[in-house]
Amino acid sequence: MKYNYEDWTVIVTGGTRGIGKAIASDFLKQGAKVIATYFGNDETANQMKEEFKEYKISTAKFDVANCEEVEAFFDDFSKHNESLEVLVNNAGIRKDNIVGMMPSQDWHDVISTNLTGTYNMSKYAIMQMMGKRFGRIINITSPSGKMGFAGQANYAAAKAGQVGFTKSLSKEVAKRAITVNCISPGFIDTELIKDLPADLVKQYKSSIPVKKFGKPSDISNVAMFLASKESSYITGTTIEVTGGL
Ligand code: NDP
Repeated sequence: MKYNYEDWTVIVTGGTRGIGKAIASDFLKQGAKVIATYFGNDETANQMKEEFKEYKISTAKFDVANCEEVEAFFDDFSKHNESLEVLVNNAGIRKDNIVGMMPSQDWHDVISTNLTGTYNMSKYAIMQMMGKRFGRIINITSPSGKMGFAGQANYAAAKAGQVGFTKSLSKEVAKRAITVNCISPGFIDTELIKDLPADLVKQYKSSIPVKKFGKPSDISNVAMFLASKESSYITGTTIEVTGGL
């Protein structure tokens, strides 16, 4: 499906690889100016810039979990951009362990990046969107937040937290024509799940009704739809893209 996002400015956190890269790429191809943010991997960020050098791409390196860094990013953003139409809170990490063995640092890191990062970015994004009375915030959650996979208490708590955050924020900003939704991807073939042992991959695939992992483009497809003006009546909800998991 074709969308026209000419003249739109879009921020995709973790937009330089995996699911975020697919979302950023689709917005670029539909004409948007995209700022793809990342944490530390300069090599993939530079590759992304090179690959899309004919498009309106820039990258920004900062930690979404760090409030001061996020504020500095938006200070700079507002000097160089007239508006912000879309924020995709996609940056995320996993540090799996059973609760009894989970170092408290791993608990905090996963909550900070996945959940606090969503709050930090959304807080400044809505300031940009309010004045223009239009905006789309899309948060990438996970079925783990709903189902609670063993060994993922930190990740499940963060991802469930994003769903609650989305519902509250959607009610706060609805009058300004800003929608806030989640996409919940099932198992998507990216580096995030490359460490899963082969027997677990086999077990997970057999539990998915369509019997395979998804692709990043399965998620970007839904992000394009949620961003569109035609999706203005969808807010505060989660779209599951899980192959029926
Ligand atoms: P990847 O590991 O492939 O990419 C993660 C991206 O997030 C990278 O660009 C990374 O930057 C960035 N990032 C990580 N930590 C931070 C931080 N503190 N500040 C800023 N950026 C950060 O992940 P996926 O593409 O697989 O996942 C994207 C989202 O989708 C995540 O929220 C994940 O939880 C969710 N998800 C993924 C599923 C899957 O099966 N893949 C399933 C369900 C949900 P850098 O490159 O610099 O490290």
